[in-house]
Amino acid sequence: MNTYVYDFAEGSRGMDDLLGNKGANLAEMVRMGLPVPPGFTITTEACRTFLTTGAPPVELRPQIRDHLAVIEGAAGKRLGQADDPLLVSVRSGARVSMPGMMETVLDVGLNDYSVLGLGKTPDRERFAWDSYRRLVQMYGSTVMGVEGSLFAEVLTRVERQHHTPDDSRLDVCDLIRITEAFKDLVRERAGREFPQDPADQLWEAVLAVFASWNGDRARLYRRRERIPDDLGTAVTVQTMVFGNFGPDSGSGVAFTRDPATGRPGVYGDYLPSAQGEDVVSGVRNTVPLQELATLDPASFAQLREHMASLEAHYRDLCDIEFTIERGRLWMLQTRVGKRTAQAAFSIASQLADEGVITPRQALGRVDGAGLAQLMFPRFDTTAAGSAVARGIPASPGAAVGAVVFDSAEAVRRAVAGEKVVLVRSETTADDLPGMVAAQAVLTSHGGKTSHAAVVARGMGKVCVCGAEGVVVDVRSRCFTAGDLTVSEGTVISVDGSRGLVHMGAVPMVESDVMRYFEGGGQPPDGAAQECVRPVHRILQQADAARRLEVRANADTPHDAARARRFGAQGIGLCRTEHMFLGDRRPLVEAMILAESAADRDAALDALLPRQRSDFIGILEEMDGLPVTIRLLDPPLHEFLPDRTELAVRMARDEALGTSPDPRDTSLLAAVTRMHEENPMLGLRGVRLGLVVPGLVAMQVRAIAEAVVARRRAGGAPRAEIMVPLVDAVEELRLVKDEVDRVLAAVSTETGVAVECPVGTMIELPRAALTAGRIAGDARFFSFGTNDLTQTTWGFSRDDVESAFFSAYLDKGVFAVSPFETIDREGVGRLVRIAVAEGRATRPDLEIGVCGEHGGDPSSVHFFHEVGLDYVSCSPFRVPVARLEAGRAALSAADDESFGDFGDRMHASTRTRLSPAIPGRGGADDHRRPRPDAFG
Ligand code: ADP
Ligand code: MG
Ligand code: MG
Repeated sequence: MNTYVYDFAEGSRGMDDLLGNKGANLAEMVRMGLPVPPGFTITTEACRTFLTTGAPPVELRPQIRDHLAVIEGAAGKRLGQADDPLLVSVRSGARVSMPGMMETVLDVGLNDYSVLGLGKTPDRERFAWDSYRRLVQMYGSTVMGVEGSLFAEVLTRVERQHHTPDDSRLDVCDLIRITEAFKDLVRERAGREFPQDPADQLWEAVLAVFASWNGDRARLYRRRERIPDDLGTAVTVQTMVFGNFGPDSGSGVAFTRDPATGRPGVYGDYLPSAQGEDVVSGVRNTVPLQELATLDPASFAQLREHMASLEAHYRDLCDIEFTIERGRLWMLQTRVGKRTAQAAFSIASQLADEGVITPRQALGRVDGAGLAQLMFPRFDTTAAGSAVARGIPASPGAAVGAVVFDSAEAVRRAVAGEKVVLVRSETTADDLPGMVAAQAVLTSHGGKTSHAAVVARGMGKVCVCGAEGVVVDVRSRCFTAGDLTVSEGTVISVDGSRGLVHMGAVPMVESDVMRYFEGGGQPPDGAAQECVRPVHRILQQADAARRLEVRANADTPHDAARARRFGAQGIGLCRTEHMFLGDRRPLVEAMILAESAADRDAALDALLPRQRSDFIGILEEMDGLPVTIRLLDPPLHEFLPDRTELAVRMARDEALGTSPDPRDTSLLAAVTRMHEENPMLGLRGVRLGLVVPGLVAMQVRAIAEAVVARRRAGGAPRAEIMVPLVDAVEELRLVKDEVDRVLAAVSTETGVAVECPVGTMIELPRAALTAGRIAGDARFFSFGTNDLTQTTWGFSRDDVESAFFSAYLDKGVFAVSPFETIDREGVGRLVRIAVAEGRATRPDLEIGVCGEHGGDPSSVHFFHEVGLDYVSCSPFRVPVARLEAGRAALSAADDESFGDFGDRMHASTRTRLSPAIPGRGGADDHRRPRPDAFG
């Protein structure tokens, strides 16, 4: 018989696949001897069966009954028993935690009778009815599908009558009335009574939690966080403990370190006289956890003890839910806590310093997406002026955007390309689409652990919460802050690192981490230390650990210099097409239009010295390091004026009675002649070199003469010549012959022996499939994974991405664009074949990648696995690639994969959707306009 239910005592943190993160960690806390209310967990397997077949496994209900009986035996009371009921919560929890994304039902077991039993003494009456109305509300919306806002409306109506801002001052009569109104609402909307049988309540709640796996917000969250859709959720059933018993009770959330900065200490929120969901939802303002020290010193001391043992046990920041029932502390949840990028770096580095984890393990606890975040600009504090509002700095960073007051408006404006800041009194799970769309989230209620804060941190969004000075009026679509009224659409700046809100767009400056890289990676001192030192330390570790080299894609001396400061070990792709633009355009036009060999040579001769000086500059910046120069790649007509533009110009001349410029006439003829239906697959790459006489010779001569010049200047130039878009070894051979001829000529002319390795890009399936032969004539391979992806999938990137990629992502054809993260199965297979067959021919073949994938964290791991020698990416991505290459090299010995760590590993290996790198003119930024569309 299959086991679908595990008692807490039977589980452990290693079982999170089966028990979910929450269930596994509750079990672990029980093993550690911490006070956890008794309970059991239903496996994710049962959920998967339910989701795939539409029905739960037949054994499930009897197994739940048996495990419930055990709890009932221990408690000495039965679920829903009329005189003194046992109540339980029914909690969701997948292997990876998805805070607030699925459903939980509390107080299951209450009905019209057991509510009286629960409230049998006068001091418990209010509490009992409060719990019952919570159950009808949660159960009604979660299990019976009644819209949640309808309950809230009833509640608000009664609260208004009492002039109280929340439910804490309602008396028993009010609560009875509210409960009855809720039950009426359920009957009306769901078409049946709120179920009175506790066993039915429990069973239906379990199924509803299963089903919540496929709720809208859970799906959206998974897509964003790249969590697989088929994990399913476990369901934990746990004895209720009550924080809403009165002033000596309460609920809270605690972190063993500050999840925003990583600083050790006591962080968290506490709410006296409340159940857990009141803390998290942000509906009532919490007090800082430290105040528990005065409110209930004994529980506080105990809590701190448990926090210390948890952190020691998990060897990481833990995030804890607890409830105090009449002075007795209960632990309700723990997990390795989500944290900001800054906190991730500083905690990892602190724990390594303390010897709690190894330096290599520290590397496993950060990721490239986080590092990229730390490279984003921050506000210029000297230009910011005074803040209009101040709140809790819940998720750091700087964001500017137009104020919006609801999720739909945020999405609507963001789709239209506007940057927005979502302003709410507090957020709920329904605000998720708006939070995804917004640059930042600002709330007037809630602490560091409120929904807004937790979700924003998880997404790497800027968040300021609990800005009490901000009074949101959704109906008139404005907020007030002091005597200022700010209406929808007004631009504000949100400083998530300081918790400040400014009017208008505050100017940005470089982040401390960016400044550190720009300074060449010198260990910092001064104020920047706290944030930069951990980055420095961990990057050093990454450099020591990694096997992959990291080079940069750079086409100018300026970019080359930056790449080097950022730690690049050479240039893996130096495109030459930029060198044909700008003031050189007329020369290129002349070359294309040349009617005689002499005209063409003249044009090429004029281009030569310019190319040469470009190369000299780059080789100088990269002195001593390899510079892989790609011969001209894009189709020539991309250097000519647009056909329509030309035609219009000539028609206008004609209409004005002037005869058209003869140059325009010949240009138009050339453009027409060279027009291609599908330029991506047309006359470009090596094909150009083979049909345009003199082009390869000119480029190679420029390279060779630059090498000579650098050598004469005492440098150590290491130019490599890379041939693009090779299909067949014969193409490469023809070009190589020409290269050899020119190199020999330059060597003779100058008396300096010039030797440049010649290699090829592997960016067409045929090249990958015949790599064994190509390697016979290539000293190195460089995978152009952009073109290789286009040609393997048959996708024209510029056409498909905007046309239907979002539909493909929605329909699950792929979980992530193959242009963003390498498609291991298809494109990756070609890479593997080319590596194996290329090396079989030439064991010392040097192999790298220069497509944009070279800077994508997950792709870097793949390139490490298949044994490439280096990755090359835009200069701004170099640090990310260094870090990820180091992480890719971590071995099984560095693995910390016990239960909870799955969550952390998940958070660190995932790459966010477009983990954009702050860039101002990095190589990737030039992908469009056209001449670069072939990177
Ligand atoms: P989430 O995953 O959204 O945090 P939880 O399952 O943790 O959902 O439950 C929501 C809230 O209810 C939390 O604050 C939690 O502490 C509280 N809660 C859950 N089970 C119990 C229980 N048995 N007794 C008291 N409070 C509980
Ligand atoms: Mg929870
Ligand atoms: Mg290419």
